[in-house]
Formats: sequence, C-alpha cells, structure tokens
Amino acid sequence: MGRPHSPKKASADSPSLFDLLPPWEEDDRAEALVAKVVFPDGPPGDFDYLVPPELAGRLRAGQRVRVPLGKGNRLVVGYCVEVVSRPVGQRILKPIRHLVDDRPLLSPAMLRLTRWMADYYLCDWATVLETVLPAGVRHRAGLRLTTFWEPNPDALAKLDLTTLPPKQRLVLQILRDAKEPLTATQIQRLAKCSAGPITGLQRKGLLKGRAVRIRRQDIIEPAEPREPNLPLNPDQQKALDTILQVLHSGQHRTILLYGVTGSGKTEVYIQAIQEVLRFGRQAIVLVPEISLTPQTLQRFRARFDSVAVLHSHLTDAERHWQWERIASGRVQVVIGARSAVFAPVPHLGMIILDEEHEPSFKQQQAPRYHAREVALQRAAAEGVPLVLGSATPSLESWHEAQEGRYIFVQLPRRIHDRPLPPVNTVDLRIENSGKKLVALSRPLYAAMRESLQEGGQIILLLNRRGFSTHIQCPACGYVLKCPQCDIALTHHRTQQIALCHYCDYHEPAPSACPHCQFLGILYRGLGTQRLEVEVRSRFAGVCCLRMDTDSMQARGAYDRALEAFRTGKVQILLGTQMIAKGLDFPEVTLVGVINADTALHLPDFRASERTFQLVTQVAGRTGRGPKGGRVLVQTFHPEHPVIQAAIRHDYPRFAQIELANRKAFGYPPFTRMIRLVVRGPHPTPTAEFAKLLAERIRQQLSGRQPPARLLGPAPAPFAKLRGLYRYHMLLQSPDGEQLRQAVRQATTDLPSLENIQWMADVDPVEML
Ligand code: ADP
Ligand code: ZN
Repeated sequence: MGRPHSPKKASADSPSLFDLLPPWEEDDRAEALVAKVVFPDGPPGDFDYLVPPELAGRLRAGQRVRVPLGKGNRLVVGYCVEVVSRPVGQRILKPIRHLVDDRPLLSPAMLRLTRWMADYYLCDWATVLETVLPAGVRHRAGLRLTTFWEPNPDALAKLDLTTLPPKQRLVLQILRDAKEPLTATQIQRLAKCSAGPITGLQRKGLLKGRAVRIRRQDIIEPAEPREPNLPLNPDQQKALDTILQVLHSGQHRTILLYGVTGSGKTEVYIQAIQEVLRFGRQAIVLVPEISLTPQTLQRFRARFDSVAVLHSHLTDAERHWQWERIASGRVQVVIGARSAVFAPVPHLGMIILDEEHEPSFKQQQAPRYHAREVALQRAAAEGVPLVLGSATPSLESWHEAQEGRYIFVQLPRRIHDRPLPPVNTVDLRIENSGKKLVALSRPLYAAMRESLQEGGQIILLLNRRGFSTHIQCPACGYVLKCPQCDIALTHHRTQQIALCHYCDYHEPAPSACPHCQFLGILYRGLGTQRLEVEVRSRFAGVCCLRMDTDSMQARGAYDRALEAFRTGKVQILLGTQMIAKGLDFPEVTLVGVINADTALHLPDFRASERTFQLVTQVAGRTGRGPKGGRVLVQTFHPEHPVIQAAIRHDYPRFAQIELANRKAFGYPPFTRMIRLVVRGPHPTPTAEFAKLLAERIRQQLSGRQPPARLLGPAPAPFAKLRGLYRYHMLLQSPDGEQLRQAVRQATTDLPSLENIQWMADVDPVEML
C-alpha cells in the first residue's frame, strides 16, 4: 500500500518530463550548493541538504548519500535527486555526511523518467527509484571486497631481511617476482604456506594492502549458432520499412504492429533492431515474462552477438552483472519482462513491446506502473521509435492508432499463407440442459479422440482461478448485470444478494432465471484440477499435463513442461491462460476452450476484451504445422458478438463493438481511471474511511470540466484478502491529470487511522 502522496510534490499542471526543475528564485544572498534527497525508508517527500566543500565536485544527482534525519539526527541513506547552487537565506541546512556511491546509479534522463513516474502514478519518488534499480545493483551483489598485497618498500628499507623467518622471506620474494599485488589466497597457493607468514608480515608493516571490489565470477551467456535473416514477405517488408522510416527520421513515434498469430512479427523486430545497431545504438525488447522461453531467446541469440536477458529468475549477482554490461554499452539487445524498460542502455535506439495487450506489463505493487506507458515516456524523451506488437491489441492502443496518433501497420496473413484454424462453438445450453456439468461435451470429446488417433496433440484451456460467483442461468445462459455499470453482478450467499462491485448496486438474488424462469439459476463452475481428473478418467493411458500457477511453482517447471509437450511425451496439455500465449507447436491439431464465458463475466469492464484475447490467442496455438488444426469453443453464448468475432478471428469487428460499449459506459480508452482501494482489519471502520475518502474526492471533482465521476465505494470483488477487508472506488474522467489532482488534494490532510491504509492505482488493469 502506498503512502499518502507528499503535498510538496502536488504540482498543479500536468507533469512533463521536460519541465521538472523547481522555479528558480533570483536572490542576491550567498549561494550554497544544495542537494535534494529522497528516502526509501524515511518520510515521504524531498529534503534539502548542504553539500560540504569536500564533496562539491563528487556529488551528482543519482548518487546515494548518508545524511542525518529528524530530531535525533539518525544517519539514513537517501537518493540525491538534484544538486543546485542557490541562495539558502536564513535556513540552516544539515550537511551531507558521506557518499554511498561514487558514481550516479541513474542517468539524468532516467532520473527524469522516475520523477515522471512518481507524479503520474501518485507515489513516492524514492519508491520508484527502489523499483527501477534492482536490489542486486543497490547492494552491489556479486562483488567481494578483496585486498591485494604488495611489499612496503619504505618499511623494508629499514630492515635486515635475514632476521625474518624463512617463510616470511619466501612470501616477500614471491610478491617481488609477481610484480603485481596478490591476494592472500594467491600468496598462500604460491608459497605453499598458511595464513601465518602473511599476517606476520602485515603486523610488522612490511606489506601494503589495497582493497578492491571484484566480481566473484563471470557469468557466461550461452552462444548460439548463427542463423541468416529470413527473406521477408511483402507485408513484413512494408512493416519493416515503416519502422525504419521512423527510425531514420530521428523523431519519436509509436507504431502499432497488428499482426495475426504466426504472421512473423518477431522477424520484423529482429531486422529493425539490426538497423538500430548500425547506428551504434541499443534496443530494448519487452515481452511478457511467460514468453521468455528458451525458444524465444534462441531466436534472438542466433541473430545478435550480445543479448542480455533480464528475467525474474536471475540472482542478485547476475542481475548486477547484466546491469553493468548493459550500462557499459556492450550489450546490443536487452530482452526482458516489464522491468527491462529501465535497462540502462547508454544509447537507446528503439523500444519494442511485444504482446502489448498483456496485463502483466502492469506492476501490481507501488509504483503501479505500466511498462507500455513508461516505454512511451522513455521513447519520447529519447526521440526513438516505440513499436507495439500484438494479434489482439489493447483497445487503448487500437484507439490511438485509429485516431492517427500512432502509426498503424499490419500483418494480416500467417507466414506461407497458412490459414488461421477454423473455430466452432459448442452450445453448453444444449450440452448441459441444466444437468450436472461435465467439462468435455460430446463434440469436444469426439474431436479429441479423432485428434489423438491421427497422432496430433491437444491443448485444453480453462481459465478459472476460482472466481466464479456470477449468476448465470445454465438453461438459457442469461447473466445478471448491473444496470449502471454493465458489470456482471456477484452472488453473495450470506446476504442472498446480487451485488455490483463497482457501484454497490444490489438486488435480491433471484431464485429463478428472470429470462426463462428456470429454477436453479446459480451456476457454479469447475476449475483446472477437476478438468484434469475428468480428462484422465476418460482418456486412460494418454499422457496429460496440467499447467497452472499451482502446478508450475517450482523453478524451471514451466520450461520442463513445455519441453515434454514439444518432444511429444505429453499428448494433452491443459491449463489456464498460461498455455494460451505465444507457444509454437506444429503438432497441435486441436484446441478446446472448456468455457469461454469464465472471463466474460468477471466483474471487470475489460471482461469482453480478456475473453476475445484469450480465445484468439489460444486458437493461434494450432494450425501452425502442415497437419492443420481446429478449435472448439464451449460457451453458453454462441451468439454473443464477442464470441462471434473471436471465432472469426475478426479483431477489427470486436474492437468496433467493444469501443462503442466503452464509450456508452464511459470506460477507457474514452476516459482515464484511477482505482482507490482502502483496506483494514475491521469492516465497519474500513467502510467508513472509504466513504470519507470518497466524499472528499467527490468534493474535489464536483463542478470540474470535463465532468468526472466516482463509482463506489463498494466492496472489492476480493472483499477480504489476507485478513483485511477491502473497499474500492473508481474515478473516471477524460482528463487523467484532473483525477490525480483530486486525489492529491483530497488526501493531503486526510486523517490517518490506525491499521487502515489506502492506495491509488492509476490506469488499473486489475479490478479484483
Ligand atoms: P508472430 O510473432 O507474429 O506470432 P513469428 O515471428 O513467431 O510470428 O513467426 C511464425 C513462424 O514463421 C516462425 O517459425 C518464423 O520463423 C517463421 N517466419 C517468420 N517470417 C518468415 C519469413 N519471412 N519466411 C519464412 N518463415 C518465416
Ligand atoms: Zn454498478
């Protein structure tokens, strides 16, 4: 949970990267060198310190310092974010005590980026700095302080060497012969002695030592055999030309590359990066963590001399080492998940964000940044292209492209003109007709048998994370929705109500379907584990593997599972959205979506978008090889426009339908949103606090232009998490800065209540 935003940082106008220096006051009083310092483990906001003369030439913004803080003058580490020479007037400033770093950890450009993040995401600057700088870099992981010894000539000149014990003489001889300082371990090895003679010489002052930080070991990056470029097809060539045109213009532009699954986007990225390298610059490629497979990395390593991979399994030491390599300019391409957007490449030439629609690009703790938004700021500030690629672009990016703010290019066909697989629906209303739910309908079961007989592999998708309390009639598929928010209502069994988790609207839970009067309207779903049991019992002897966050806990489990599937040891792969993404297995001839509606009725305004993306992405996993493939989608709503668009692979149609809907209900991309979550150990005071916060924000927003609105407070869909009750509210306005201001002003002197915390999520992607 974030700390309340510091009032000092409340800036009235929109925060721009280029406009971050404070107003400069002309003053003829004596000038002093002043450093602005922010504290990760201290009070929010920034504090001024005097730079003492001995540190004057050595301190720059981006270095950490140790300074006295508070009444007790406790020494605390903070980040120096600015050094200016200015009049200090009557104020007495405390001086900085020590430097922690002898060089800045961040460039001025990266500092400005972090400042922008703090403003935009309503969090503390120091929190951002701690996120941007990996722990391994901050703690200098993997470095060891080692002392190198050499003879001390002054002391030796005054001494008769023959008085020394023979072992000590030998040590001196070895050091003279070596002609360079040696570590104690090296000396011991060469002299075949213990540590005794060395400490003896040290005590007599006959050795001079110098402490140096050295790396414990070098990390070897695997080398791949080189592969030539593929000759591009005309669509790919056109996409590449468009990107290169922007690159050569030297101006920032964002390019949306809309390419169906398997259309060859990666080859376009690779060849665009090759041009970036010709300018002596580096590229950053951001992909979802789940796509950082050996397969992906191999494709890049086979084309470039030096690729750095930043994934979540790196040790602190490895991360530190990669960071230094990248900062030194020795790395051509940095590939990584979300946080690689902060990679310290010295001459950025291009940023590529593949699968740009992926929610995992948004961080779910403070600072709750979205890598796409940060990449946009960084690319704009450094004047380089940003390429966003996807087969199912986010509606935000699609809308920008439609409005002409992004350049639009598309790869509408698969490589070698391979057809997209045919997708058919299975109507669960007919299959179930209100009886006990089975995971595999008759048509899906038959298709699976057929596929296995022909030696094909099968992927079954069931995206259920145990959140299935929407109210749906199993006979007719009708779902209860909020009349104001267009969000599926959630069933609360204890109170027997149907509740909207956006605006708190509720009504009695119906006992019969309002649409078809079927009794027993409540439908409770099934999860991956039950699906696995069913598949195993109906396909005895067929090797089946379940893949979800529960079964993939162990390090390397994901890679091993994919390998087992690739090599054909496993015939049926079943799991959550994990299996829907980016995998390229030519032997997959059948994809089954067990229930396309699971995402459709999440209490989230992006439910339709998630459903479309999921069905399209998982359908893209088949038909990649010469055997072809097909997709069966089980649903209660075969006629639903989103399902219809998905089975036709028709993203533009989907976008058209969904954008109209978003506009009607005032959701992004037509508005900006901020979600506020309040949590505390007791329900009533937490709810009261949420109400107070909402009231203050309503006051701030009232009468503003353009009009803004606040939904809630309402219990969050996860109304209780780890023992804490959660209430949330949603702020919507076409002007995001207006919302930020309202939150800052409403919270500057918000009374703090014990145990109750609040946090702000700007541009939220997760509504649970
Ligand atoms: P996407 O990223 O759009 O899903 P990929 O880049 O993974 O598509 O390409 C799909 C497959 O097509 C890959 O196996 C790739 O090697 C191959 N491919 C890409 N471009 C070409 C090309 N110009 N000629 C032949 N094969 C290609
Ligand atoms: Zn509502």
